[in-house]
Amino acid sequence: MKSHILAQLTFGPWRDDADEEWENSVEHTLVWFLGHLLRCSQIIGDPVYGIIEGVVQAQVRLPHLDALDAHHMSSCGRADLEKLECLLGCRMEIRLLASGCGVQDQTDWKQATWLVLYGASLQGLAPVRDQNLACIPSYLLPMDELQKEKLFFWACDEDCHSRLWFSSGSLEKETYVAMADPRSALNVRARELAAMVEKATGKPTYTYLFRHYSLPGDSELTRPCPLCGGAWKVEEAVEFRCEPCRLTSSSAADLGEEELARIGTWQG
Ligand SMILES: [Zn+2]
Repeated sequence: MKSHILAQLTFGPWRDDADEEWENSVEHTLVWFLGHLLRCSQIIGDPVYGIIEGVVQAQVRLPHLDALDAHHMSSCGRADLEKLECLLGCRMEIRLLASGCGVQDQTDWKQATWLVLYGASLQGLAPVRDQNLACIPSYLLPMDELQKEKLFFWACDEDCHSRLWFSSGSLEKETYVAMADPRSALNVRARELAAMVEKATGKPTYTYLFRHYSLPGDSELTRPCPLCGGAWKVEEAVEFRCEPCRLTSSSAADLGEEELARIGTWQG
């Protein structure tokens, strides 16, 4: 929690004498602006906004102190901010509410050995990480806004699956299969997006295969790559990595569910 950077964005005074068209335009533009920030990982998690003491404000969580610098803004984000500032007659002001004293230095994707499309991990984090699993916010990656949106919406989809599986409700098994089977639509899409990131960055880009249920004994750690059947155990931040398949994963510890443990294993 000490690494959280919380910030308050102040946009300008709410006009009580304004007509409904102005009110709708301010709210619509603010929502779109915050959406642009979210899709480029300039903010993480859902923002909260409203009128506080007569002023339009939003509270957001930032991945890094420079995340809202103008040069990180997408063209659409800049256009919506300009429209908002025009409607409210003020420049946006940013005030830190929590300094994020434990936040680590910005990870430079150019120094990465390889990248991995990891997912949001129930915390709204940026979907791309380096070989040490350090998050790389999408606004730093050399891709256009549409490509960053594709990453964001895949991460949202993955996050929805995680939440449904985690809640152990009626879709528990279906969501586990979607996350743990490398041939599921969710994971096939992940590999397409990883290829997009690899093309844009020139860095080998993997996907991460979720795993929870363990095979018995040593067979969990000696299981082959589920896509090609090759050896893929490594001594890295990830426990398994297959270079030709661009697939990483970890070992599971939950024993006693043999049928579920076979999901995501090599079938020959
Ligand atoms: Zn493989």
